[in-house]
Amino acid sequence: MENEKTAAAAPAEEESARSKNFIEEEIDKDLAEGVYDHVQTRFPPEPNGYLHIGHAKSILLNYGLAKEYGGKFNLRFDDTNPTKEKSEFVNSIIADVKWLGADFEDRLFFASDYFQQMYEYAVLLIKKGKAFVCDLSADEIRAYRGTLTEPGKESPYRNRSVEENLRLFEEMKEGKCPDGSRVLRAKIDMASPNINMRDPVIYRVAHLSHQRTGDKWCIYPMYDFAHPIEDGIEHVTHSICTLEFEDHRPLYNWVVRECGFEQPPRQIEFAKLYLTNVITGKRYIKQLVEKGIVDGWDDPRLVTISALRRRGFTPESIRRFVELVGVSKANSSVDYALLEYCIREDLKLKRSRVMAVLHPVKLVIDNYPEGQTETLEVVNNPENPALGTRQVPFSRELYIEAEDFMENPPKKYFRMYPGNEVRLMNAYFVRCTGCEKDADGNVTVIHAEYDPATRGGNAPDGRKVKGTIHWVAAETARKVTVRLYENLVDEEKGKLNADGTVNFNPNSLTVLNNCFVEPSLQNAASGESFQFVRNGYFCVDSKDSKPGQPVFNRVVSLKSGYKLPAKN
Ligand code: ATP
Ligand code: MG
Repeated sequence: MENEKTAAAAPAEEESARSKNFIEEEIDKDLAEGVYDHVQTRFPPEPNGYLHIGHAKSILLNYGLAKEYGGKFNLRFDDTNPTKEKSEFVNSIIADVKWLGADFEDRLFFASDYFQQMYEYAVLLIKKGKAFVCDLSADEIRAYRGTLTEPGKESPYRNRSVEENLRLFEEMKEGKCPDGSRVLRAKIDMASPNINMRDPVIYRVAHLSHQRTGDKWCIYPMYDFAHPIEDGIEHVTHSICTLEFEDHRPLYNWVVRECGFEQPPRQIEFAKLYLTNVITGKRYIKQLVEKGIVDGWDDPRLVTISALRRRGFTPESIRRFVELVGVSKANSSVDYALLEYCIREDLKLKRSRVMAVLHPVKLVIDNYPEGQTETLEVVNNPENPALGTRQVPFSRELYIEAEDFMENPPKKYFRMYPGNEVRLMNAYFVRCTGCEKDADGNVTVIHAEYDPATRGGNAPDGRKVKGTIHWVAAETARKVTVRLYENLVDEEKGKLNADGTVNFNPNSLTVLNNCFVEPSLQNAASGESFQFVRNGYFCVDSKDSKPGQPVFNRVVSLKSGYKLPAKN
């Protein structure tokens, strides 16, 4: 029950002045000891996919720290591996970071802009006797590397002279060496207990065109060499990354030291954010996109930032979520329900509550004059009068939810059944008189009679009803498509199958093509959202809606399967 623990810990923390997380404590210490005279953070995505909720955590953490300490925040693309990177991803990442509210101003950088400097640092290392050109093949390098229990073996090329190394590295750069024939390696320690320190490769030959530098380079720096240099060049102080890089920290420190950066950056690791019932890894999301299991990177069932936006999540709800989750040093999964809680709370007072019938059945009010319609003034959000009122048409024929009628109800069913009186929300009391059925016994029409004295939904004689149901006037109703979602994966069975494929829930999407909404919703704008009373929050899809024909995505249901623990 890791999840609940994570979620439960946060609100208590929020009450008093929030206690500092371990990263803030480290920064405080560094500033007090004069290690740094400023705070500079960055978010360094590789443009090889769309950002997801885990990245949102990293973005908001880095941005938040810069703001808190009066420092600066950079958005820097770590575009050192041309094979998987695309400008489509660059553009989506910029849009997502802005949407989240992490304002990087004009501080947008690309690692590829530093290729020349990185090359010069590599030359510097060669001159210092700290790097050498190695002709071993990739397989041989692996075999020489040793294991966790055995030290590695030194490369026969390790003791080349500085002059020879400079000449060969120049040849690599000039395109005279085929891919894979040579690499540049740091000369550190083949006996180090940390495998990352066993003469790691820092440059490789790859005749690849780069999306920004074209064919200028045919040597590319490796991540462990490039990343610390990027940080150093940008005067980053706290290079915050996720736990899998913990074992790489000694190499990070080696690079910034040997390259001679003043006030060298330091790496601090925190735990990645994982969520139950959804896929967070870029690699796995990519798998779903490429196999066509989902409708692109912004399919509303995904937790990419663009999918969350399309589904109807707000930046505020995601910021709140990240805040509640907090920063930790130990990996755990957060309950997806916490994210749902955050969006529900955010929309509660901000959105109008309108009527939409998702599974319609006709209701005829037999004593309501034929041909008559009237307009009711309805409050948009009873908890927030600032949202005003709207006009809703009412007439003799209405649609109600099929589940709001039962011919033979069980005990404690308070909605429509023959003889029972209920309230039509915002309208009248009606008493059910019966129903019509087709040859298969399905209810096709329900009949009722209304009490004209109950206009607005209250009886002057004070009599009460136990059920209130929503409705839409048939004649003026607009037919729309509504999409309901379930979790993308079935957590019970495990997220991944034995063969590494994603364990996909086949019922994750339900499309309802026969839903009726109040006429005012026909012209709802792309991205606009509403509460459909009793059914949840819904957002106009930005991709599949057409003018006058909105498609609504359910953001979240109203039923809270989740409650933040009470304060104590
Ligand atoms: P993925 O694991 O999804 O493939 P990644 O780490 O390869 O993501 P990058 O573009 O390299 O993606 O990551 C950019 C930054 O976001 C890194 O600092 C990384 O540590 C951080 N990050 C990635 N995933 C998460 C996550 N789940 N929670 C928090 N931070 C994350
Ligand atoms: Mg990565």
